[in-house]
Amino acid sequence: MPWYILIRRERKMSEKLPSKFQVGDTVWNARCDWLPVEQPCPICYGNREVKLTLGNGDEMMLPCNYCAPGFEAPKGVVAQYEHVVAPEPVTITGVEIKCSGGVVQSYYRNGCFGYDEDRLYEFKEDAAKRGLALKAELDHDQNTRVDNLKKSKAKSFSWNAGYHMREAKRDRASAERHEQKAVLCKARSKKD
Ligand SMILES: [Zn+2]
Repeated sequence: MPWYILIRRERKMSEKLPSKFQVGDTVWNARCDWLPVEQPCPICYGNREVKLTLGNGDEMMLPCNYCAPGFEAPKGVVAQYEHVVAPEPVTITGVEIKCSGGVVQSYYRNGCFGYDEDRLYEFKEDAAKRGLALKAELDHDQNTRVDNLKKSKAKSFSWNAGYHMREAKRDRASAERHEQKAVLCKARSKKD
């Protein structure tokens, strides 16, 4: 049966704890969040419209529907979610220490937020390095999920072209396959 000692210390208690960091220390959290990042539209390149050549050679300008959310006007930019590394300073206001089988684990708090010890670093550079390692892991998981997603049948040709180009950028290993599909979609939309 494991045994536990739980020590809680709140701000202003001066007693030194058997943990890596102390109450009152400001350390760096190796933060890596899944956030929307704005990028130029990969279909209209910010022009907000695209040219469609009809079968008889006539040309039409159409609003780009890849960067138009719902019924809104095209924006020329798209928000693509990415794992973003952003080390953040955290001042420790509470420490919890758990001992089990001779192993001591510390858990830190700042108000209602909690942090594992392996996410906190004394120096920003170390937190950034750890954040990049987390990003590599999370990106790998994300790419695996994307590969397994079924493609929607109801998407427009321009959406498909944009989708395949975006996936090509995200995953170089499958770049060739996706780009072939994007070219195919473009060729088809020219014929229609
Ligand atoms: Zn666009």
